[in-house]
Amino acid sequence: TGTLYLVPTPIGNLGDMTERAVKTLKEVDLICAEDTRNTQKLLNHFEIDTPQISFHEHNTKERIPQLVEKLLAGKNLAQVSDAGMPSISDPGHELVVACIENKIPVAPLPGPNAALTALIASGLLPQPFLFYGFLPRKNKEQKEELEKLNNQTVTLIFYEAPHRLKKTVQAMSDVFGPDRRVVLCRELTKRYEEFLRGTLLDALKFAEEDEVRGEFVLIVEGNSHVEMLETVDLSENTIEEEVNAL
Ligand code: SAM
Repeated sequence: TGTLYLVPTPIGNLGDMTERAVKTLKEVDLICAEDTRNTQKLLNHFEIDTPQISFHEHNTKERIPQLVEKLLAGKNLAQVSDAGMPSISDPGHELVVACIENKIPVAPLPGPNAALTALIASGLLPQPFLFYGFLPRKNKEQKEELEKLNNQTVTLIFYEAPHRLKKTVQAMSDVFGPDRRVVLCRELTKRYEEFLRGTLLDALKFAEEDEVRGEFVLIVEGNSHVEMLETVDLSENTIEEEVNAL
């Protein structure tokens, strides 16, 4: 049986590609990539000539049996997403599950990830934390999710697209209150890396300015006003699962 290697790729700075990531991508038989054209640029840069196959959210179902068959036949595969860690708000999870079911070894490589990179520089409590990823886009569902999160005392980590930043920060301010502390972590590892630290009200003022550009991670302080009794909720499995998922 072959091995499925989970290979993180840079989130903006090519210097963050690890030696082991390059070696692994060179040595495997096939690279499963979220966007083969995007990954080809990375492969060219590191002089990797391994063939690719597309593996993304729209072909996951049909691809998995094909990939499992290759792995069972002894081929080694690497899975990559467009940036950062596979499976983290990116394709990969279902393939990992299929490998586990088929007793195929899964070998994760450590490497770039926007959430943890943002968290360690945020200045907000690094643990415990809850990694949420992208909130639902629809107003009603987004508000419902934020309401569920409102009593969390742990640090919250979100991803958001620049064109939705203003709306999401507004919704957070409505639900969590404008005084809650937040850090907008922008363009991590890139030339215009920036950390905007303040309250949700400050963040809203920033997001309302002209056109917001770049990639963002939002680190939100946990609720510091919840009663002692409610903090018992911290030990709920759901939170631990989210934390462990990173
Ligand atoms: N798999 C990736 C990871 O491990 O971080 C995340 C992929 S997700 C589709 C893309 C989101 O991650 C962006 O919308 C943004 O919220 C965040 N992100 C990715 N790169 C970033 C960067 N250089 N700076 C800030 N946020 C980034």
